[in-house]
Amino acid sequence: MRRKFVVVSVLLVGCAPSSGGEVSTDDFDALLRLRTPPATDIWEVALCRVPADVEAGLFAPFEERLEIDAAEIVDRLGPVSDYFARWSQGEYTIEWRVAAPVDLDSSGDPMSCVDRALDSSADDAHGVLVVADAQHDTDQIGGWGRPGSGCEQPCAAKTSRRAMYVGASDFMPQWGDASPLDLVQHELGHALDWPHSATADGFADGSANDHQVYDSPFDVMSDSAAPRNSDTRRRGAPGVLAVNLHSVGWLGRSEIEFVDPNRHPIDEWHDATRLVSTDSGGGVGSRLMVIPVGDRRFVTVELVAARDDNDHLSSSGVLIHLVEPADNNEGRRNVVLTETLVGQERSWIWNDGRLEFDVGALVEDGNVVATDVRFRRLGSDRVARDDG
Ligand SMILES: [Zn+2]
Repeated sequence: MRRKFVVVSVLLVGCAPSSGGEVSTDDFDALLRLRTPPATDIWEVALCRVPADVEAGLFAPFEERLEIDAAEIVDRLGPVSDYFARWSQGEYTIEWRVAAPVDLDSSGDPMSCVDRALDSSADDAHGVLVVADAQHDTDQIGGWGRPGSGCEQPCAAKTSRRAMYVGASDFMPQWGDASPLDLVQHELGHALDWPHSATADGFADGSANDHQVYDSPFDVMSDSAAPRNSDTRRRGAPGVLAVNLHSVGWLGRSEIEFVDPNRHPIDEWHDATRLVSTDSGGGVGSRLMVIPVGDRRFVTVELVAARDDNDHLSSSGVLIHLVEPADNNEGRRNVVLTETLVGQERSWIWNDGRLEFDVGALVEDGNVVATDVRFRRLGSDRVARDDG
């Protein structure tokens, strides 16, 4: 079989497995800042009323305003609740509640709406979703989400300031009652403390905002519109990465195969790990393989099944990320190292980490999709580069 050599990025040179020190799952968990949301997460939904004469900038220079109210928006959010119920295996339920509208103040900053909605939120609300009744301009962000701080969950939103904010675009009349929901799903991911993912090139792209290009179709926290881009009838986001499922307690330690490469001699294959797809129900096998590679960095290996939320993918396969510290709010980022294994490739060498991966055939048994993954460390003489 022809092997495909992929040079990930010069930025990653030097993160070969370190030779000293024990690495434990605790280090992985510390990087992820494990944070379990309330089992029933209560979100208030408030409309932010934007004056017709708001200064142009964030908002598009149109006087058109949303004609629906928060109750109608809540009605449309059902698929968001379903999505998170699915990926949490039923451990996480969202309760949307209609709240009173709030007014944008003269600053024109939507934060004024968010602050007003938070200040007037009920004591048992854990977050507020604020939807502006005006559209953002096309060159502006769609919205934002934040997990809040200052108290342990469950915590009152008015204390933690946990919130999401989006412009009106996805609720405009041209969508009928079938609003795209991937943006709200993405911002809720931020409220769960999930970071963005992208390819190494995507993160390195100096022309992009904050050096981030949302170029991964595998992750709600990256190209969230990927399903709709392949089928215009789709409204939801791709699935959730296994590392993020673990960070919120929806993928337990018993489902993680943690393998320290330093315990294996160079060139010797580690015993294959059977991975079941990330959307599998609990208890059927490992859903995540984690390999520490030094400097608080970890390689994660997961099997993505091309079905349901991920049925926009051309085939099921193994996806490999580098999870590493970053100076963003979440303290980490998820870098797509290869998607070549999602498809026909069965072997892949990560030159910068001096690791070779080998993937077995996909096994489908009823609802379970599984494969075997093994890796070995390569000596420096074995690492080939092909920049062509
Ligand atoms: Zn984002």
